[in-house]
Amino acid sequence: VANQYAAKPQSLENKVILITGAGDGIGRAVALTYAKLGATCILLGRTVSKLENTYDAIVDAGYPEPAIVPLDLKGASAQHYKDMGNTIIDQFGHLDGLVLNASILGMLCPFSQIKQDEWQDIMQVNVNASFMLIQGVLPALEKSPGSASVITTTSTVGREGRKFWGTYSVSKFATEGMTEVLAAEYDAQNIRFNCVNPGGTRTAMRASAFPAEDKAQLRTPEDIMPTYCYLMSDDSIEHTGHLFECQPK
Ligand code: NDP
Repeated sequence: VANQYAAKPQSLENKVILITGAGDGIGRAVALTYAKLGATCILLGRTVSKLENTYDAIVDAGYPEPAIVPLDLKGASAQHYKDMGNTIIDQFGHLDGLVLNASILGMLCPFSQIKQDEWQDIMQVNVNASFMLIQGVLPALEKSPGSASVITTTSTVGREGRKFWGTYSVSKFATEGMTEVLAAEYDAQNIRFNCVNPGGTRTAMRASAFPAEDKAQLRTPEDIMPTYCYLMSDDSIEHTGHLFECQPK
C-alpha cells in the first residue's frame, strides 16, 4: 500500500526533483524527505527566507546540496517557466521528478460572494501556473535517463464539491483533470502523472481553514511522506493517472 511504503536508503540517488512550495508545510517535508533519500532538490517557492531555511536544513543534515528558485506563481509568465526548464537542462542535464504542491486556499465563502479577482488569483496559482510550469519543464523531464514522475496535489474537495469551498474546490477538480489528460498522453514508462490527496495535515493552510480544531489530532507532513516516496521511487513505475490517498480512509 502506497501510504505505508518504506523507502529504501538512497533510493532517489542521482534524481533531480523540483518541488513547488518547498519553503513550508507539506512541500518542505517532501524536499527534506527526498534529499534524505539522495535526491538533488530544486526548491521553488515565494518566500526566499523560507526556501533558505529548507536549504539550510538539507545542507546541515549532509544531504545533496539543493538549488533555490524564488518565484511567485501568481505573477510568473510562460517565458519564466520556459527559461527555468532550459536552466535545469543546462545545470543538471535532466529533470526526474516534479511535485506540484504549492497552492492557495482563498477565503471560504458562499459562491455568490466569491470576488472575481480572488477567483482569478486562485486559478492562476493552482491551475494556470501548473499548466505553464509543466509545459516549461516537459523537455527536461523527457531527458530523464530513467522514468520521470510528476505528482500533482488535490484535496477531498477536488472530486466532491463542498459548499463554501468555491474556487479552491474548482481548482482541485481542474488539477485532477489535468493529471488524467497528461497521464493519457504520456507512456507511464517515460513520464508518469499521478495525483495525491494529502488528507487533513497539520500546516498553515489547514489551520486557516479549520482555526478551531485540535491540531494535535492531525497527521503531520512527515506522517504522510510514504505516498510521496512511493510515487517518486521506481517501484511506482507502472502507475499513471491514479489518485493516491496519503492517509488511510
Ligand atoms: P501551506 O500553505 O502550508 O504551504 C503552501 C506552500 O505553497 C508554501 O510554501 C507557499 O509559500 C507556497 N505558495 C503559495 N502560493 C505561492 C505562490 N504564489 N508562489 C509560490 N509559492 C507559493 O500548504 P500545505 O502544505 O498545507 O498544502 C500543500 C498542498 O497540499 C496544497 O496543494 C494543498 O492544497 C494540499 N492539501 C493540503 C491539505 C492540508 O490539510 N494541509 C489537505 C488537502 C490538500 P509561502 O509560504 O512563501 O507563502
